[in-house]
Amino acid sequence: MIELPESMVVSKQIRQCLVGKKIEKVILNASPHKFAFFSMDADRYPMLLEGKTVRNSGSFGGQIEVEIDDMQLYFSDGASPRYFAPNETLPLKHQMMIRFDDQSAITVTIAMYGMMYLYPKGENKNPYTIIAKEKPSPLNDAFTFDYFNELIASCPPTMSIKGMLATEQRIPGLGNGCLQDILFHAKLHPKRKHETLNETHFRQLYDAIKETLQNMVDRGGRATEKDLFGKEGGYVPTLYAKTVGTSCPACSATILKEPYLGGSITFCPRCQK
Ligand SMILES: [Zn+2]
Repeated sequence: MIELPESMVVSKQIRQCLVGKKIEKVILNASPHKFAFFSMDADRYPMLLEGKTVRNSGSFGGQIEVEIDDMQLYFSDGASPRYFAPNETLPLKHQMMIRFDDQSAITVTIAMYGMMYLYPKGENKNPYTIIAKEKPSPLNDAFTFDYFNELIASCPPTMSIKGMLATEQRIPGLGNGCLQDILFHAKLHPKRKHETLNETHFRQLYDAIKETLQNMVDRGGRATEKDLFGKEGGYVPTLYAKTVGTSCPACSATILKEPYLGGSITFCPRCQK
């Protein structure tokens, strides 16, 4: 699943690699997928995109936005585009393929579920996008400690840290994937309740959000995800599926995993109080 680090990395790669390329052919649902979501009838995508040129790309939250003349194409969640040079073989199964006039292409193959929304420029009224665009990125200066405190203050006293940070798009692009290492660095347990936290804890959380996400971006995204060129990110998480059952690098306790709040949490039972 794309989260903030990957959307930043991939949109930058799109700017460097795809801007200026003209679209020759668009194919949707070559291999239909139940959880591949489009914003309009899939038949209309070719009509609206073919003959047009990629102009820019940006990201907000976990979403990638690509400007293609008068249209805007969005990738999110399990929809991550992959680039193929002119002489490379394309995968047989994909839910979107865009071929350019130099015979290079991108394909999207959905992992779990994913969105590939298309709108005329400025007409994306999807609440998921609007909220993500309105709120400051945790990596921007506008995401101040005061702003973070206000955000958290609006959460019920019994809400857990996972609930506060990684649900309802309170911090767009910060999902369950990035959350685990953030909380490891903040030394706080994902189930810890809002009402038990003090000013020092809030500061630990705030610093861990900014530092961990920045570190993930600087290393080209997380190793659990692939970039535009199919390369795994260079940030190897401390807490994820592969480290469950191994020793915590800080205290040697066994790293645990359990289901919680739609998805699982991975944590060190000793370091994270
Ligand atoms: Zn530990």
